[in-house]
Amino acid sequence: MNQHTLSMRLERVAANIPVGARLADIGSDHAYLPVALLRRGLVAAAVAGEVATTPFLAAQRTVRDNGLEQHIKVRLANGLAAVEPGDGITAISLCGMGGETIRDILESGKGYLGGHERLILQPNGGEQPLRLWLMENGYAILSEELLRENRFYFEIIVAERADSVKYSPKELYFGPLQMQARSAVFLAKWQRILREKQKTLASFERALQAVPEGKIQEIAQQARWITELLA
Ligand code: SAM
Repeated sequence: MNQHTLSMRLERVAANIPVGARLADIGSDHAYLPVALLRRGLVAAAVAGEVATTPFLAAQRTVRDNGLEQHIKVRLANGLAAVEPGDGITAISLCGMGGETIRDILESGKGYLGGHERLILQPNGGEQPLRLWLMENGYAILSEELLRENRFYFEIIVAERADSVKYSPKELYFGPLQMQARSAVFLAKWQRILREKQKTLASFERALQAVPEGKIQEIAQQARWITELLA
């Protein structure tokens, strides 16, 4: 993967960035996503934010090697602190991090959000707490995509502020739009997770030390929900 050839995962993220956007890619690592989008003429400008020095330097190098310093600002900053008022950001991508990490970045960076930005989120797990944050902060899920690459499942969640947002506990768990669409990859993902939950419950029964009842009930309920979903 590089600034020319993105992974399938980042290609699908790229496809969800509105054409002409002013993008803030937070946790940009090598800045492959903003550089590829700029090279293709698909975004007007970008900020690549990184909290860690090594990926920050890598992002600077990619931008410099592509002669894009005028169009992509690379900033060493924690989360949304990479965004400055003058950037006029219209889309924010947070990709390749756990859903809880993305949620925490959004929560602690609320002050940097104008409310009009489209969020393009690609969590690696932890989708439920991320969707809960979106709902509690008035973001409606506009689209959800699930893909499988190298045996891993990846979700892409696109959200924007809306007047009234309410999702049921099951919608937060499975994804409201994915539940409706029931794609083959979605069903395969939940079949795999059901097998894992059943194994976990069986291991609880064999465990030498008592597993807290609340934990058993939580996993048992998730297994019931998935069984109902797949029925
Ligand atoms: N976004 C790229 C992708 O999807 O391929 C890179 C993903 S990489 C696994 C996660 C990156 O997020 C790391 O480079 C890490 O330093 C950065 N990161 C983690 N927490 C961050 C934060 N609070 N603010 C900015 N960057 C962060």
